[in-house]
Amino acid sequence: MSKFCPKCGKLETKNNKLIKGLCSNCLSENLQILKEYKPLKIIICQKCNSYLEKNKWNKRLSDDETNIKEIIKKLLPKKLKPIEGAKIKNVSISSIEKSLGKNSLEAEVIIYGFIHRKKIKENHLLQIIKEVTICNLCRKKGSNYFEAIIQIRPKNKDLLRFVKKDMETDVRLKE
Ligand SMILES: [Zn+2]
Ligand SMILES: [Zn+2]
Repeated sequence: MSKFCPKCGKLETKNNKLIKGLCSNCLSENLQILKEYKPLKIIICQKCNSYLEKNKWNKRLSDDETNIKEIIKKLLPKKLKPIEGAKIKNVSISSIEKSLGKNSLEAEVIIYGFIHRKKIKENHLLQIIKEVTICNLCRKKGSNYFEAIIQIRPKNKDLLRFVKKDMETDVRLKE
């Protein structure tokens, strides 16, 4: 005799076994896929819009204002802990607003996944912390720039020619 779900009466099948005595539909009812979320912190370079991930600077993901959205989309899944028996498959971000705190954003996130075998789509408002700084590369460029604007004003034309020759080809000297 085959087992059935006591809540809805559905018979157990090979592809839809009862879990804890219930079918996957009834089991996932009233369950939230997201168990835990620790606010994601994103660190962005204010000059080139690259972002920090695992202590490494990565190139920006987009050329326009969708950059922050793309970065959040990429980094957020690691911060989302699903409940037991659930899997988060994908996230999409419908909006990002500034929230109360100075560096705080509030993202409207849709989480797609499964609780046991049931497809789930869940909306959440999640806090994101955004920090703006300058990346290593831009910092380096900045210091090179200052080196480059040191002016050389030799009175002797030969000396000027020598200095010009001595410099790398990508450096342009103003006479
Ligand atoms: Zn059921
Ligand atoms: Zn930068």
